[in-house]
Amino acid sequence: MSKSPRVFNSLEALQSELRAVRSKDKRVAVVPTMGNLHAGHLSLAKAASEECDYLLATIFVNPMQFGPKEDFDRYPRTFSDDIKALEKVACDAVFLPSAQDIYPEGIRSHTLISVPELSTLHCGASRPGHFDGVCTIVCKLFNMIQPDLAVFGLKDYQQFRILSKMVADLQLPVKLLGLPTIRDAGGLAMSSRNSFLSAKEKDIARNLYLTLKQTAEKIKQGQTNFAVLEQEAHNMLENCGLSPEYFHICNHLSLQPAAPDEKNPVILAAAKVGSTRLIDNIQI
Ligand code: AMP
Repeated sequence: MSKSPRVFNSLEALQSELRAVRSKDKRVAVVPTMGNLHAGHLSLAKAASEECDYLLATIFVNPMQFGPKEDFDRYPRTFSDDIKALEKVACDAVFLPSAQDIYPEGIRSHTLISVPELSTLHCGASRPGHFDGVCTIVCKLFNMIQPDLAVFGLKDYQQFRILSKMVADLQLPVKLLGLPTIRDAGGLAMSSRNSFLSAKEKDIARNLYLTLKQTAEKIKQGQTNFAVLEQEAHNMLENCGLSPEYFHICNHLSLQPAAPDEKNPVILAAAKVGSTRLIDNIQI
C-alpha cells in the first residue's frame, strides 16, 4: 500500500524526526535530488528503501552548482508531482528546504568543499565550479541528516567518483551506493533536462548512447587506439546532429585517459542537442 511521505521544509522539524527515528535504532538512507523526479530517481529511492529502515529524499535545486549562463531559472520544479511519485517507493520523508534555509548569507561568501583534480576534468572543464557546488551541498546535507547510506546514480559517473573521494578524504561516516542508469525504451538516459527536448530532438539525443555502445563494442573486440575511437565517436555524433563537448575513454577510478591495456575503462560523454546539454557514460 502506498503512503504519502512526510514533507519537511524546516531543518529543525526534520532533525527532531530523525532523532526519533534513530532512537529506535533505524538505519537512515538519503537520496539527494533536484526534483522533477523520473524513473531514474525512483530506482534510487526504491533501492535505498530496501537497504535501510527509513528513507529520506531531498529536493533542492542547488543554485551553487549552476554557472551564471546555465539553466537554473528554467530548471523544472514539479514539487507536488514529485511527492506523489515518491508514494510509490515507500519513501518516509521529503526534505524540501528553501535557498534561504541552505544559504542564509548567500552563496558568494559560503564555504566551499572542493575535490581538486577530478573536478576539473570532463564536465568540470566546461562547468567551472559545478562540482564544488555539488560537493558543498552534498556535504551540508550529510551534516544535517547524518545518514547511514546515501544513494546516487551512475548516470552522473564523474559526480559519483568525486563524491566518493570527498567522503573518503573527509572520513565522513556514510556509505555511498552508485546505481545503474535508467533509460527510456530507445536508450536515452532519463534526465530532468529531457523535458526541454522536442520529440525530434529526443530521437537525435538517443544517438549519444548508441555511440557509447558502438565504441564500447569496438573496445571489447580489442581495438586499443582510443584516440582514433574518440575521434570516430565525435564524427558520429556530429553526423547525427549532436554537438559533442567531449567523448573520453578513461580509467574508471582516476578518470584520466585510459591506457591501451585498460581492463575496465569507462567512456564519459557530453553533447548538446539544440541548447540542451546531455551527459551519459558506459562502463566496460
Ligand atoms: P538530479 O536530480 O539530476 O540532481 O539527480 C539526482 C540523482 O539521481 C543523482 O544521483 C543522479 O545521478 C540520479 N539520476 C539522474 N538520472 C538518473 C538516471 N537516468 N538513472 C539513475 N539515476 C539517475
